[in-house]
Amino acid sequence: MTTYHFRGRLALTLTMLMLASSANADNHGAPDMPHLVPFDAIRDQHNPALVNPKSPDDLMIAAGLRESTLVPVYPKAVQCYEIDHIFGEVWKGPTNTRHSGADIPAPWDYPIHAMADGTVIAKFDGQGGGGRTSRGIQIVLQHTPEQTGLPVWIYTLYSHFRELPKLDVGAKVKQGDYLGPNGKTGVPGRRREPHLHLTVNISPEPEYAIRGSVVVPKNGVFIDPVALFRGKLPLDTASMQALPEEQKQVPIAYRTTGGDIVPKNAKIIWPMDCY
Ligand SMILES: [Zn+2]
Repeated sequence: MTTYHFRGRLALTLTMLMLASSANADNHGAPDMPHLVPFDAIRDQHNPALVNPKSPDDLMIAAGLRESTLVPVYPKAVQCYEIDHIFGEVWKGPTNTRHSGADIPAPWDYPIHAMADGTVIAKFDGQGGGGRTSRGIQIVLQHTPEQTGLPVWIYTLYSHFRELPKLDVGAKVKQGDYLGPNGKTGVPGRRREPHLHLTVNISPEPEYAIRGSVVVPKNGVFIDPVALFRGKLPLDTASMQALPEEQKQVPIAYRTTGGDIVPKNAKIIWPMDCY
């Protein structure tokens, strides 16, 4: 019996390893991925929070995951699809996990766009090979400091697409480039409408690893996606909470369906066109 259990566990472990490597096959060995490093090379204090959404709350908060108290100010001239479930919100349920991003509900297939120039560093089909399925189909972009005008490395993660984005890992994207159609893959609960879940990480360094279906930036933390629209440091959640009230009002930069960027020099825009 002991032997049987041992063999069973070994077989299971091997299967999991194979699943994990096939899930990552798209990402490893892709051309021009100079900052992808093994997970063991980037172990740091925030890893558990970034990798596992059910990590203890103090770890999640230390990694920036709590309500920022920022208030997005949407344009008056046009309509934008707006955040309903905010970053850091506690999902009431058996585990009380915190929402790692902002949710933006929009119609089925509404186009989702790159918020800034960047590189596709991962995409996941949501089928679970070694990772989370609750995000459904995801794509992750990495943005250099030059690409955003902010002196940190920024990661924007877009999830719940209806279909797998056609962009390849390693592809360079420009601000506003089409990523894929809005959907609700991976979304638990039938009543929730299609929406974009947007998670943003920042890091002082360019290296990142991929663990299952999670991109883990070296020394990365979560930030409120709304903070990106401040256009300057700081961006971290504790600093956002400490801002004077008037500075917590953050105007959203966007692109119109006609292709205009507002304001014109914005390097980071809302991930869906306003109309
Ligand atoms: Zn969400």
